[in-house]
Amino acid sequence: MKTRLILLGTGGRPRPRKANSAPAQVIVSNDTAYVIDCGNGVARQLAFADVPLSTVRHIFLTHHHSDHIADYGNLIWLAWCAGLRTRVDGWGPPPLERMTQLFFEMNACDIETRIADEERTPLLPLVHVHELSEGGPIMQDDNLAVTATLVDHPPVVPAFAYRFDASDRSIVISGDTLPSDNLIRLAEGADVLVHEVLYVPAIDRLAARVPNAAALKRSILSHHTPVEDAGRVAQAAGVKRLVLSHFVPPDDPAVTDQMWLDAARVHFRGEVILGRDLLEI
Ligand SMILES: [Zn+2]
Repeated sequence: MKTRLILLGTGGRPRPRKANSAPAQVIVSNDTAYVIDCGNGVARQLAFADVPLSTVRHIFLTHHHSDHIADYGNLIWLAWCAGLRTRVDGWGPPPLERMTQLFFEMNACDIETRIADEERTPLLPLVHVHELSEGGPIMQDDNLAVTATLVDHPPVVPAFAYRFDASDRSIVISGDTLPSDNLIRLAEGADVLVHEVLYVPAIDRLAARVPNAAALKRSILSHHTPVEDAGRVAQAAGVKRLVLSHFVPPDDPAVTDQMWLDAARVHFRGEVILGRDLLEI
């Protein structure tokens, strides 16, 4: 059995763009898909990755920022339209339960039509939501065990990182966070750490595109991890591979691949992989 990790979207920030899709990852084990975060386009990225939507079994949300959750409801709804007829569990911070209910209420017209007209399995009984308020072991099945930890992403509270331990490898997804001691503990000895990264010198250019530049710059600097520090976290945790993802800025041509890699290697002695959409690791 091989546990696969595919990056579905690697650009931070909610603005749709050509360069990359919004944050999302999928772990596939035994034809079962575990989706972590649901940025805009996640269902289509799963199609590009050749992961059947009907195999989506668990969805984990790290925190309530639009670049991570915009297509949470859409993923379940479209997977059902694509033939999903088995249980789906959603995991994440409150108010995930209410969000899920309201999403299906908003789209009841289509859902009820398809059940009546196409004789589809009713969707709502398939969906089970689990709100998480603290870290710890959260689920285990035949393929893997999942553990969460609280990370620091003010003002969004709570925000989580997740660790997936399968028989053949361990994978950690940082979510969005400042450099986090909890994350270092969660990732200890992991095979793969996918960590969000920020290139600090480029933030003025990113912020200059918008009228709320000063507030946006302050916000970004106050809740993300500079790429050099992502290397520091990976080194402290003793992970084998550091995968850079959730790039901020997500599409500034002045920040080259080599600049990201060089900065990550300042403090990390293991292997660094530059994330890109649909890369399998
Ligand atoms: Zn965020």
